[in-house]
Amino acid sequence: MSQDAAALHSDAGTSGFAQAGMRLAGHDVDTTHGPILYLDGISVSFDGFRALNDLSLTIDDGELRCIIGPNGAGKTTMMDVITGKTRPDSGTAFFGQTIDLTELTEPEIAHAGIGRKFEQHTVFENLELAMKADKRVRATLRARLTTAARDRIAETLALIHLAGEADRRAGLLSHGQKQWLEIGMLLMQEPRLLLLDEPVAGMTDEETVRTAELCLTLAGRHSIVVVEHDMDFIARIARKVTVLHEGSVLAEGPMDAVQADPRVIEVYLGR
Ligand code: ADP
Ligand code: MG
Repeated sequence: MSQDAAALHSDAGTSGFAQAGMRLAGHDVDTTHGPILYLDGISVSFDGFRALNDLSLTIDDGELRCIIGPNGAGKTTMMDVITGKTRPDSGTAFFGQTIDLTELTEPEIAHAGIGRKFEQHTVFENLELAMKADKRVRATLRARLTTAARDRIAETLALIHLAGEADRRAGLLSHGQKQWLEIGMLLMQEPRLLLLDEPVAGMTDEETVRTAELCLTLAGRHSIVVVEHDMDFIARIARKVTVLHEGSVLAEGPMDAVQADPRVIEVYLGR
C-alpha cells in the first residue's frame, strides 16, 4: 500500500469521505507470477473490417510502454478493449493473473485499477471527484476533506504542474493543462495501469517535454501504456516500443531497433 493510502486508512472514520476513500482501486491486482496486462489473440471487427487482428501484447508490472503505428492501426481500439468500451470478438484479456477484462463492465474495470475522466469542474474539484468519494457526500466534500486527502491533492497538483491553478475552472485551462488534469484525475484513482492515448497531441513543445518528464516520474509507480505519434516525445520516454499495424503487432523492442526495422520504416516511419 502507498503512503498516501495508508494515511487515508489512518483517518478512517473521521469522515464519510475518508471511508469512501479507503476503497482505493488497484490493490487487488495479482502480478506475482506475471505481467500486469496480458492480451492474447484479440480480434475486433467493425462491419466486417478487422480493426484488431489476433493482437497479442504483454505489459510488465511497472513498465512504461510506448505504442506507435499509422492511423487506423487499431491503437485506440486496443485501449477500448482494455477499458471494456469495446468487446473483443475473440481473444484473452487479463489484468494481472486473475482479472478477466472481457467479463467486467467499464466501471468495474476502472475500479479494478484502470482509470478514466470527468469535465466541467475546477481543477481542484476534478481531483476531488476522482478520489472515488460516495456521490452523497460530494456536496459537502471540500469542507470535510481530511488533511491526508488535501495533502494528496496538493501532491498530485504539484506533479501535474497545476498547483497554481487549483481554483480555476477546468474549461479555462490551456489545452496542455487539461491533458495534465486528465492524467491527475487518473492518478487520484491510484490506478495500477494508466492508458494514455495521444497525450501530447496539440501541446506546445514545452508542454510536451513536461509531459515526457511526468511519464518518466510515474513509471515504476504505475504501469503505463502510451500511444503517441510524436516521435520526439516517444524518443524522450521510450524503453520498449510496440509498433501496431493493421490490427496486430508488427515489431517490438528498443527504440533504435524498432526505428531501424525496414518493415516499420515502410509502413510508418518512412512516410
Ligand atoms: P488508431 O487509433 O490506431 O488510429 P483505431 O483503433 O481508432 O486506430 O481504428 C482502427 C480501425 O477501426 C480504423 O479503420 C477505424 O476506422 C475502425 N474503427 C474504430 N472504431 C470503430 C467503430 N466504432 N466503428 C467502426 N469502425 C471503427
Ligand atoms: Mg487512435
